[in-house]
Amino acid sequence: MKVWLDGKLVNREDATLSVFDHATLYGDGVFEGVRIYDGKIFQSEAHLDRLYTSAKCIRLPIPYTKQELAEAMVQSLQANEITDGYIRLVVTRGAGTLGLSPFECSNPSVFIIADMIQLYPQEMYTDGMSVIVAKTVRTSPRMLNPSIKSLNYLNNILAKIEAIDAGVPEAIMLNEQGEVSEGTGDNIFIVKDSQVITPPAEAGVLVGITRGIVMKLTTKLGITMQERPVTTENLFAADECFLTGTAAEVIPVTKIDDRIVGDGKVGPISKQLQTAFGEFIRSQEA
Ligand code: PMP
Repeated sequence: MKVWLDGKLVNREDATLSVFDHATLYGDGVFEGVRIYDGKIFQSEAHLDRLYTSAKCIRLPIPYTKQELAEAMVQSLQANEITDGYIRLVVTRGAGTLGLSPFECSNPSVFIIADMIQLYPQEMYTDGMSVIVAKTVRTSPRMLNPSIKSLNYLNNILAKIEAIDAGVPEAIMLNEQGEVSEGTGDNIFIVKDSQVITPPAEAGVLVGITRGIVMKLTTKLGITMQERPVTTENLFAADECFLTGTAAEVIPVTKIDDRIVGDGKVGPISKQLQTAFGEFIRSQEA
């Protein structure tokens, strides 16, 4: 495997960072996860826009243009002969002193890993997945804007550990108000009385690129789409539920804690949106 690191393609073993990099010391940096379908970078512009916005929010100058990083992604794919897979694009603060100040770190590092990904087993896409509601509360947007896709994922990791301990692959996180926020690495949608509902950004949500696409596809299919707070009562009374994300794509949820969602089978709207998302991927629009 070849990793793109600061302008060069290097062997996996040689793709190393300084222990003084503030990404290592403090999780100070930003990243993106990007899908590759049929040799094309899916939603490249949207991911690069979000990366630069995240970086701007934490005052991290990225030492390349968007165009240069788009080309670097292509180089990484070609070097690893990947036509269907996943790219992890990371910008670190760079090596500095042991203090917190990011301004002593002179050289941000940028690296790109191009690899395969299968987040959840294939049968969960057709039969649905079980999740739990995590006790770990999603970080409040007033503490850390969840739309900054930073290298600080401990809040999500703690919830993921709860899921794994409970024997399920994913956890739903609630915000400080006890409302539904999102999964540990994906956004959540519910369906009630044929209406599709997803929590708004203010619920502590990372505004997912897949979420945006699915919202548009829902409207295009003539289904009512609402972005509004979702209570746990709404969640438990939902007819259908599904998660969206770059890695997860569109995955139905059929059990939450000990509660069966709807009739326990993947619902018609979830199926319709899974199909529409698949078609969107293969379409020119992607
Ligand atoms: N929420 C969180 C916390 C995430 O890490 C991700 C994955 N980036 C998402 C939602 C889904 O976002 P996207 O569709 O842009 O991958």
